[in-house]
Amino acid sequence: MKRLQERIRQDGVVLSSQVLKVDSFLNHQVDPILTMEIGQAFARKFQADRVTKVLTIEASGIHFALATAYALGVPFVYAKKKQAITLPEDLYSVPVYSFTRQETYRISVSKRYLTARDRVLIVDDFLATGAALLGLVELVKQAGAHLIGVGAVIEKSFQEGRGKLEQAGVFVYSLARIESMSPGEICFAEETENMLAEETN
Ligand code: 5GP
Repeated sequence: MKRLQERIRQDGVVLSSQVLKVDSFLNHQVDPILTMEIGQAFARKFQADRVTKVLTIEASGIHFALATAYALGVPFVYAKKKQAITLPEDLYSVPVYSFTRQETYRISVSKRYLTARDRVLIVDDFLATGAALLGLVELVKQAGAHLIGVGAVIEKSFQEGRGKLEQAGVFVYSLARIESMSPGEICFAEETENMLAEETN
């Protein structure tokens, strides 16, 4: 997604070769127009898949799930990180290890909002190690629902997330794939692919 790539270049801050800060437009202060365009891009990609529910994880996935679900005309549900005041048997739940925070937390979704009849599209802000998204995939499995695929707004392709998801048989679609980054320079996979295609033409 060209506009997203341009915005990442313009306003993203590369903190290290591993961490990209996008909190001025994506995950703290949020650009609503770009967010809605992101939702439309996911909806276009998955429009033929008869999605019945969009699933994400709180907090940074919620606005992208809303935009995607709105464009598809279906509800979205977000996995909670804090235990709700609900009986454990009413929840699907799975532990997730956070490499950024170096701790394990549980994510859960009410059994009422994810069922075996659902066709689920998972979306989230970042695909990095894949731990959070694999946790969501596990919740879909526990529910016996059909997983259509995963949509990531930003994929850090140099980390292992995509490989792990694909190994688990999950289709992954990312709107911006970062191949490498360093302060002042971001290299997108799409641009490398375009360059290679031009060279062979
Ligand atoms: P995972 O490692 O499980 O794929 O990523 C978990 C979460 O960590 C993502 O949903 C995202 O919120 C956060 N995260 C991972 N890498 C980055 C990054 O480079 N920048 C920011 N801002 N968040 C990240």
